[in-house]
Amino acid sequence: MRQKITELSNYIAIKEPLCYTEADLKTNLGNAFQNLIDLEVLIPSKTATRVKCKDCDNDHLENVIEMNGKYYTKCEYSGESSIVEVTQPELNTYEINKPALLKWINRGLKINSKANKLTDNLWAMGKLKDRNLYLITLSGLEQTIEEASKANTDNNLFIWLGVNPQIGYTSYELLSIQDIISIKNNKLELLKLPIKPKNSKAKGEDIALDKNIVLTKDSRLLLVASGNTYNHEEKIVPQAHRIVRFLYDQKDYETAYKSSELSEKLGINPHRVIPTRIKEINKICDKYKVKQIIVPQPNSKWILNPDLTCCKQEISQK
Ligand SMILES: [Zn+2]
Repeated sequence: MRQKITELSNYIAIKEPLCYTEADLKTNLGNAFQNLIDLEVLIPSKTATRVKCKDCDNDHLENVIEMNGKYYTKCEYSGESSIVEVTQPELNTYEINKPALLKWINRGLKINSKANKLTDNLWAMGKLKDRNLYLITLSGLEQTIEEASKANTDNNLFIWLGVNPQIGYTSYELLSIQDIISIKNNKLELLKLPIKPKNSKAKGEDIALDKNIVLTKDSRLLLVASGNTYNHEEKIVPQAHRIVRFLYDQKDYETAYKSSELSEKLGINPHRVIPTRIKEINKICDKYKVKQIIVPQPNSKWILNPDLTCCKQEISQK
């Protein structure tokens, strides 16, 4: 199913208006094809007068010839008898109607305003609670971030066509279209938008690693305290969560661990993943200018940063 959404994203990402044959669209979009027509995301275009030759391996177009109500092509590279019938789905073509998709998204999100095109790739969708929602019709991360910088409002949320990086280092809050649209019962379905609250609160079961860093049970880091809420929230992968949690549990013993030891104790393989995860965690800390959570020790070992307030508290209690 995700594959179909990727295919749809690819169509949406193409800037110039192109026509696609029903045969190709059905292959790529599968059972969502009819629903996309119903939603007018696909609109019928003129019947193809030239189609890809089916007779040879050369990728070339041939004129469609009509004979007795049927359609054929004759390959210019093959012999006399090389006439091939072309079926109706190969002649029917459709265009992508981006505004219809945006309209469908807005209806699903109960946004009453109409999507407004700001640039070739940036659409202002409207207000979603206290957020300004945008859609960026790009799938490259760098170009998407560049495009996001053009939005002149605050508290923005961007739907884009690419896949979100596993850990959010992006300077803009991006929602992958893959995470909000799926296909169910041959129909496009809008999933609930994972909108983070602007300020996050720590719960009882969360671990306060530092005044400015909380590790939640569901693998998020809450960062930069402001009163009893946190200004930022970043998802981390479960492996990263387990590494931090383990080193936190070990902090009183002041023992440092090698990557291979952590790998064995936590069942995270191969062990070279460990430094990668640690780097990802610390990169988040650097981004928000808080203390690094895990620090290196001699002999390539790792320990929970003794400067974190959770380590200091233990010492003062002793
Ligand atoms: Zn040919």
